[in-house]
Amino acid sequence: MKKKLLFILVLLAPLTCSYGQSKRGGGLNIFSLQQDIELGKKVSAEIDSKPQEYPQLPETGRDGKNEQAYAYLRGIVDRILNSGKVTYRKEFPWRVKIIHDDKTLNAFCVPGGYIYVYTGLIKFLDTEDQLAGVLGHEIAHADKRHSTRSMTKQYGQQMLVDVVLGRNQGALTQLAQGLLSLNYSREHEREADQFSVDYLCGTPYRSDGAAGFFQKMLEGQPGGRTPAFLSTHPNPQNRVQAITAKAKADGCNLNNFAAARYAYFKGLMP
Ligand SMILES: [Zn+2]
Repeated sequence: MKKKLLFILVLLAPLTCSYGQSKRGGGLNIFSLQQDIELGKKVSAEIDSKPQEYPQLPETGRDGKNEQAYAYLRGIVDRILNSGKVTYRKEFPWRVKIIHDDKTLNAFCVPGGYIYVYTGLIKFLDTEDQLAGVLGHEIAHADKRHSTRSMTKQYGQQMLVDVVLGRNQGALTQLAQGLLSLNYSREHEREADQFSVDYLCGTPYRSDGAAGFFQKMLEGQPGGRTPAFLSTHPNPQNRVQAITAKAKADGCNLNNFAAARYAYFKGLMP
């Protein structure tokens, strides 16, 4: 009996660390860092298994255009990751994929740093700074572990204990499947916006790049395309103001970086 209790306490030890850590980031998180990575891996495999729903642009092909497109995109992601502000820069795998779907104006990031960007969004934006702003926002969702925090709140710690202790591998797969339809709370959206500014402030990009994206969303989409990003990311008006206010208050760069290059990147899209 005593032995069993000790065993449970040992298992709970990493959870206690996770609690302490999550208090600093806002919202409890019962999951371990390793489980964020594991969940992300599962979701990423789920996405890979649905090429009709998520038609990924191959990393090679079209006479090298795909390689160039990925090199460009990875360049942006790396500048953000190397800003010195990303907490799990080294721990998470940080992958980026392009989804070939011009009708969808969206980008998303699953736990562990698997980032997905739609060609619809790339073509819709005008500058690399705007794309960097959106990527910063998505990277923040992963880095601040918003998905596992949301799941901790939604499903309750009691129900998740088995999953977290690794006693129910099937449940983890189920959680991974539900994760793609999980919406972030307003608080997490606000936090991701703020960290987008924070991350970009440590790069050559204009730190309010995300505001440029929301501004464009407000101005409307050509051809009445559905802005998928807005259904999961509400309230653009207030967000433009909050992003710009933080960038100014922090004294970050507000000039566009390498504005001319973005046309080259768009030209590489299929
Ligand atoms: Zn978001």
